[in-house]
Amino acid sequence: MGFNRTSVLVAVISLYFPASVMAQADQTVKDNLQYTLQVPYPVEKISSSPKKARIKNVVLMIGDGMGLTQVSAAWIANRGQLYFEQFTHTGLSKTTAANKLITDSGAGATAMASGQKTIYHAVGVDTVGRDLATLTDIAHKKGLATGIVVACSLTDATPASFAANNIDREEEEEIATDFLESKVDILFGGGRRFFNRRKDQRDLLKEMEDKGYEVITSSTDFLNSSQSKILAVVENGQLDIAPKRGPVFQEASIHTLNLLKARKKGFFALLEGSRIDDMGHMNNLPGVVEEVLDFDQTIGRVLKWAAADGETLVIVTADHETGGLTLLDGDISTGRVSGKFSTGGHSGVLVPVYAWGPGAELFTGIYENTELFHKIITLLGKKVNGE
Ligand code: MG
Ligand code: ZN
Repeated sequence: MGFNRTSVLVAVISLYFPASVMAQADQTVKDNLQYTLQVPYPVEKISSSPKKARIKNVVLMIGDGMGLTQVSAAWIANRGQLYFEQFTHTGLSKTTAANKLITDSGAGATAMASGQKTIYHAVGVDTVGRDLATLTDIAHKKGLATGIVVACSLTDATPASFAANNIDREEEEEIATDFLESKVDILFGGGRRFFNRRKDQRDLLKEMEDKGYEVITSSTDFLNSSQSKILAVVENGQLDIAPKRGPVFQEASIHTLNLLKARKKGFFALLEGSRIDDMGHMNNLPGVVEEVLDFDQTIGRVLKWAAADGETLVIVTADHETGGLTLLDGDISTGRVSGKFSTGGHSGVLVPVYAWGPGAELFTGIYENTELFHKIITLLGKKVNGE
C-alpha cells in the first residue's frame, strides 16, 4: 500500500497538531503558575491579644479552599509578611465528609456550623436530610446579633450551611427562600438573581422587606446603611474576583462588625473569602494569591477592630484545600512565587486554624472540623441540642 496525498496530509497534521497544542498548553500553564506581587502592602503590628477578657463576640473567617500552601504563596508574594502571622494560636482541622474522604464546601461548612458531619453537597442538614441548628440559629436564640459576609452568592454552599437547610447545595432558589426564616441580621454578598429572577416568579427581595429587612443592591448603599437588619445582595451572581472588586469585601466585613456591635448584646459573624476556591479550581495561581492577599488584609482590619474592642475572638480556617497546590520556587525579596496544582478539585489535606483573642488557646491541636462548632459553643457558654 502506497501513500496517497490524503494520508500524507493526515500524517503531517498529526505530527504537527499535538506539538502546537502542547506548546499552547505549556504557555497557559506557565502564565498561570507564576505570580509576582508588584506592590506589597505593609503589615502593621496588632496590639497584643487581650488576656482573661470575657468573650462577647465571635468572628469566624473561612477561606474557601485555603490550605497552607495558598497562605504560604501569599506570604512569599507579600515579601514574607502577612497578618496571618499575628495569630497567637494555631491548630489543624480534619475536613472529611460523612460519606467521602474529600469534602465539598457544603459538608465542610455544615460541620463547622452545626457540629455534625454530613454528606457531600448537603448544606445545614444531617446525613438523612434533617435540618440542623447552626451557629447563627443558636446565637440568635441566645439573643446575639448575627451576620454573614461573603464574596460569592449568599445562596452558595458556605453561607447556605450557616443560614439554610438543603440536602442539595445546587438548589439555590430553594436555599434563597430559607433566608426568609434564617433570622441572620446582616447579610452581605451576591446572588440577587436567586431572590428576584426565579422560576416561581416570587420576589424574595420584597418578601425580605416585609420581614423587616432593608434590602440593598449596591455596596455603597450598604456601607452607608445603619439599619439593624439588612439583606445586601450587591451582584446578580458572585462578586468580582480580587483585586478587580476593590476593597469591598474588607469594607463590608468591618461595616458588618460595627453594625453588629451596635446591638450591644454580642454577636456571631461569618466572613468568607469565597473566591480562593474558584481560583484553585481554575488552577490559577495569580488568582489564588490575589484572593488570599485580600483575605489577609481583611484579617488585618478585623484584628485591629478586635484589638480595639477587647472582647472579640477571631478564628480563621478553611473548609478544605482546593487544587492540591504545591510551591516549587519563588523569591521573598521580589515577591515572585511559582507552583503547580495536582487537581482541578479539592484535596484531602488537613487545613490550618488560626485564633486570636479571648479563648484562642482552645483552638490549638489536631481535631475534626466539627470541633470548631463545639469550641465556639463552649466559649459562648451555650447548651446546644441537649449536649
Ligand atoms: Mg464557599
Ligand atoms: Zn470548591
